[in-house]
Parts: sequence; structure tokens; C-alpha cells
Amino acid sequence: MHRTTLGDFELTIVSDGTYFLDAGAFFGVVPKTMWSKKVTPDEKNRLDAGLNSLLIRTGEKSILVETGIGNKLPEKLVQIYKQPAKLLDNLHAVGLAPEDIDIVINTHLHFDHCGWNTMRCGDSILPTFPKATYYAQRKEWEHGRLQLERDAISYMSPNYDPLVESGQMVLLDGDREIAPGISVKIFPGHTANMQAVIVESESGAAKKKACYISDLIPTSNHLDLTWVMAFDLFPLTTIESKKRYYGEAIPERWLTVFTHDDQTPWGYVENGERGRFILEPA
Ligand SMILES: [Zn+2]
Repeated sequence: MHRTTLGDFELTIVSDGTYFLDAGAFFGVVPKTMWSKKVTPDEKNRLDAGLNSLLIRTGEKSILVETGIGNKLPEKLVQIYKQPAKLLDNLHAVGLAPEDIDIVINTHLHFDHCGWNTMRCGDSILPTFPKATYYAQRKEWEHGRLQLERDAISYMSPNYDPLVESGQMVLLDGDREIAPGISVKIFPGHTANMQAVIVESESGAAKKKACYISDLIPTSNHLDLTWVMAFDLFPLTTIESKKRYYGEAIPERWLTVFTHDDQTPWGYVENGERGRFILEPA
């Protein structure tokens, strides 16, 4: 269990389990001879990737960033990715029931980030977190609804459309504060409108910040600027967004949270040698 305090807030990594990703796709144009020094794929060249949600307890609100894969995948995709569906058990283990969650934030609407937004109940789709207000970016939602050849597979309407229709999901237009100390900021590249979640709390005189950086830097093995996933729609923009992120996060020592790193879900990025970046464990 990964848990820490950030000022007055408590941060906990709550995982939906792990799923398979193709290791080549995970590292984009980086050759296997390089990435295989860091990770070892299975006989089908797959890696076990994490599905880390971040639970933020502010004292007033319980906020969940990202909701994993969930339990609604079609059987064919269960065969490809697995369907661990552990998020609710892991929330329960830290003392929370679904109705205790006040706010859900999706950084983007790919199926591995918003799967537990809803559950199937007979013929109907119901919100998993009945009392929560959900937040996502409007342009991300609009993009998903286009169902383009390249990425239609990642956008599954039952994960968000019922919530938009009922008004339980608020669609945002750019950067915004969601609650005191919790804000979202667009870091484009993986998708055009992916948002990171920035958490800020004061302890005494010191202001502490954390950032759920989502698929801009999916794991601690993706710190270097050119280690960009093949899934990214705009890889050059990903590089620029990473530079912008490091420009703030390194000097201000933000705790960076990685969505898909099962081993090292968070840490402090620092400048390494020859333009590289290294991670100091939290
Ligand atoms: Zn994604």
C-alpha cells in the first residue's frame, strides 16, 4: 500500500490491478535493445502494466483520480488485456465504499482510465460512485465520440455517455480548479486534451505539490523526453509537454504520480546527466 501525506491531505495509490500492454507499443520508437534493459516482457512481448488511481482525502472530500479498466470489457478484450477489476476491493481496503467518493476526475477517456466510472446492472448502466461529481474535458469527450479509425477502440461510450446525459459528469473547457487545492491542467500529446491533476496543500509555511501526470509519463521508465508511447496521437507535442512539466515539477519538487507503473507509482523527478532524467523514490 502506497500512502503519504501532502500538507493537510492524504494521498493513497489505489490500484485496479495490472493489465497486458504490448511492450513495443509501450515504448514507441525506442528500440527493444534499449527498453529491455529496464523491463522484461513475457513470451508474447507483453508487459504487466499498472492501473493506478490516486485517492486524495482532503479532510472534507474524498477525490478519486482515474477509475482503471472496470468490469465491462467485452470478452475479446478481456483475453487481450485481462480485466483485473480490483479497484473497489482496494478502495474497501482503505475504508471507503463507492458512495463515499465525492469527486471523480478522468484525465482522459481511454477505457483503461475510466472503466469503473460506471457498472452494468442488468440492462442498464449505472454510476459506480453514485454521489460523486465526475469531471472530464469536453474536447476529449467530443474526440471520443468521433470514433476515428485510429483510436475508436479506446473510447467506450458506456464509460461516460450515461454520466454526461444525466448531468453527473461535468465537461470542462481547459484548466480549472475543481476543489480547494485540486486543479486540472491540460498537457497535450497523448491526446489533444489530456489533463493532469495538480494537488497542492500547505503544511506550516511550506507548500507541497503533487501531480497525477497520467499518460504524459506513464511509468518511471518513460522519464526521458523521447521515450514516448506509440499510442500517443501527437508525439512531438508530448515531448514539449514533458519539458513544460519538468520546468515546474523539478524546481518545485512535485511528487509525480505514474498511472501505469505497478512497481513505482510515484517519486520525485530530478535532472540527471547528459539531459536525462532520474527518479528519486518517494
Ligand atoms: Zn490513454
